Amino acid sequence: INACLPCAAGEMSAQLTEGSFALAWHVTPPALRATSPALQERLSNMRRHPPRIAAMRDTKAPTAPHRARKRFGQNFLVDRHYILRIVDAIDPRPEQRIVEIGPGQAALTRELLAAMDAHCATGQAASLDVVEIDRDLVARLTAEFPRDRLRVHEADALEFDFATLAADAKLRVVGNLPYNISTPILFRLCEFEDRISDMTFMLQKEVVDRMAASEGSGERGRLSVMLQYRYRVEKCFDVPPGAFRPIPAVDSSIVRLTPLGSKRLRPNNETRFAQIVTAAFTQRRKMIRKSLAAWVSADAWTAIGIEPTARAEDLSTAEFVAISDWREGSSP
Ligand code: SAM
Repeated sequence: INACLPCAAGEMSAQLTEGSFALAWHVTPPALRATSPALQERLSNMRRHPPRIAAMRDTKAPTAPHRARKRFGQNFLVDRHYILRIVDAIDPRPEQRIVEIGPGQAALTRELLAAMDAHCATGQAASLDVVEIDRDLVARLTAEFPRDRLRVHEADALEFDFATLAADAKLRVVGNLPYNISTPILFRLCEFEDRISDMTFMLQKEVVDRMAASEGSGERGRLSVMLQYRYRVEKCFDVPPGAFRPIPAVDSSIVRLTPLGSKRLRPNNETRFAQIVTAAFTQRRKMIRKSLAAWVSADAWTAIGIEPTARAEDLSTAEFVAISDWREGSSP
C-alpha cells in the first residue's frame, strides 16, 4: 500500500510490504511516534486491522498461496536438508549453463543460485534458465527474480527446444521432475544428448531403480537399456515422502546421468535397436528366442553369440546392440 505518513517535515510516502510493516513500526523514531498522532493512529489501526497481504504486495506479484496441481505432478520440496543435499550433488558453478526443469516455487532454484553465487567473483551474480509449464508459477518466478538472474521459459519440457540454450556451452539439466511424465521427459532429453554435459534429477525411486538396473536384475527393463547405452546412470540417494508438500505416496531418489559420448556403443540402426529392445521387454517373461522370433531366426543365435533361452533382463546393452546389428546385416 501507499502509506502517507505525516511527519514534522511534511508528507512521507512509503511502500509497505508484508515484511516492512513490522519494520516501519519498530524503526519509527520515538519522537515521531510522540509528535505525530495521525501516524500513531494509522499504525495502530494497521495493527488492529492488518491489511490483507494481497493489498500490500506489488500488484503484479501473485499473493495467495499456490495450490499444488496434481495434473502437473506438483509435490514441492520443503525439507531444506534434502534441498541442500541435492544442490551439493549437483555442485553448480557460475560458468556452467544450467537449466532446471519444473522450478515450481523455486525451492531448488534459490539454493542453486546461492551456491553458484558463492563461486562468483565479488560483485557478480550467477544466472539460470528454467522451464516451467504452470503459468501461475511462471508469474511468481518472474515477480521474484530479475531476468538477468533467472530466464523463465514458460513451456512444456516435452516440447521445449533445449538446443536453443546450448549454443555456446553444453547444458547441465537438473530438476525435481513431475513423476507423471518423467519417462517421456527422459526420452525427450535423449534427443539432445550431444548438447548435454550431465543431468541430475529427482524421480520416483522405483523409476530410478529401473534406470540403474544391471543385467540379471528383475528391475531391468526397456528404460534401463535405452538409457544405459547413452549414459552412465548413478543413483545418488533416496528422499523420503515427508520432504515434500503435498506428501507423495511414493519414495523418491536422486539420479545422475552422464552421457558416455565417444565411449558409447552405436548400433548401426538406432531405430531398429529401439524396436528390438521394446519387443524383448514387451514379453519379458519369455525366452528371447520366442520374444524376438520376428527379428532373429532360430538358427542365428549361435552366430550372434547369445543363449536363445535367456530372458530380456539377462542381456547386456552390448548384446542388444549385437542382436540389432545382426538383424541389420541380415535384413534385405
Ligand atoms: N522444483 C520444485 C520443487 O522441487 O519443489 C517443483 C517440483 S514439482 C515435482 C514439478 C514441477 O514441474 C512443477 O513446478 C510443475 O508445474 C512442473 N511441470 C510439470 N509438468 C511440466 C512440463 N511438462 N514441463 C515443464 N514443467 C512441468
